[in-house]
Amino acid sequence: MSATIDRILSKAANGERITFDEGVELMACHDLHKLGRAAHAVTSRLHPEPYRTYNIDRNVNYTNVCAAVCDFCAFYRKNHDADAYVLSREELYQKIEETIALGGDQILMQGGMHPTLKLEWYEDLLRDLRSRFSSVNLHAFSPPEIWHFHKINKLPLEDVLRRLKAAGLGSIPGGGGEILVDRVRKELTKNKALTDEWLEVMRVWHRLGGKSTCTMMFGHIETAAERIEHLDRLRQLQDETGGFTAFICWTMQPGHKMADAPAAGSFEYLRVQAISRLYLDNIPNIQSSWVTQGAKIGQIALFFGANDMGSLMIEENVVASAGTVHYLTLEQIKASIREAGWVPRQRNVFYELIDERPPTAPTAAADRVGTTREVNHAESGRSLPVVN
Ligand code: SF4
Repeated sequence: MSATIDRILSKAANGERITFDEGVELMACHDLHKLGRAAHAVTSRLHPEPYRTYNIDRNVNYTNVCAAVCDFCAFYRKNHDADAYVLSREELYQKIEETIALGGDQILMQGGMHPTLKLEWYEDLLRDLRSRFSSVNLHAFSPPEIWHFHKINKLPLEDVLRRLKAAGLGSIPGGGGEILVDRVRKELTKNKALTDEWLEVMRVWHRLGGKSTCTMMFGHIETAAERIEHLDRLRQLQDETGGFTAFICWTMQPGHKMADAPAAGSFEYLRVQAISRLYLDNIPNIQSSWVTQGAKIGQIALFFGANDMGSLMIEENVVASAGTVHYLTLEQIKASIREAGWVPRQRNVFYELIDERPPTAPTAAADRVGTTREVNHAESGRSLPVVN
């Protein structure tokens, strides 16, 4: 067993593709150190640069009204619920203005799958935001939402995506992927895109020249082989299109109808992220999931396959609704990278560096461009860091 694992790990570390069966073998391996060393070797080969990256964006949930039902989700509401909402334009403008003031360059805009809003509503929204905030990338609408637009508007998927792109859609987040195996999806979700549909949205978007991220939410009802099946479907699509910029995985946060599900912990998160880095040989970047794992594990994840600390996440509602969210300031994100031995650099969704400072050797005092002061964010009640 150990010799087999060693052989698979050295294959992956040396840049050779591992097979489906070898992926399943790795899923049975609980030697976290071995997996981490091999994943880190891959990350170091792909990213020998002296920096690790982060992004500043805001997660805006434009509506919580959703036609789907997901057992793990405590966020969605039905149209008639008293606390159902669709954000007004003014609320959106304010959130974007705050994001720009914090140095952000992107809005991650996702919602529930609203049963009555037509495609024109989304086009107007994108056009309006594009014209007001031309420097901000609109990273919006997960594949299940876009599939939903295609169904309720009775329009070909390609037409929907072309129209959204023309209206200003910049890139697509990998949300709603969970586990891309229909047995799992049918058990956990209702009225939501199935595996081939999720992948088809990404395929068509990539063919139109678009970029997107991809994700995996694990630690619920999936088997080890189904985790690899998920990774395999992503790897196949990436071979075909090359459109994924990054992969992010996290453990399901027990809550809602799945409140009694045992939580997969940090050991499992690091193990699966390391295996993902080894399996996804064609996806260049992996983001650490400190939002679900906290600062310490988020930092350690940089040695288990991740090369990016993800986003400052000025606002997050979906994971928070399930009861688990960690919040870091910009300085804490940068300090996590610096303490781990790299220079922190800001990037955009395309992984282009967008800060103006050249990388220098990391020191504890280096890289402090500004101090932070706290302002109260009226709606969330959280404090927002403001870079001076
Ligand atoms: S996870 Fe998304 S699609 Fe599922 S119920 Fe919640 S808001 Fe709707």
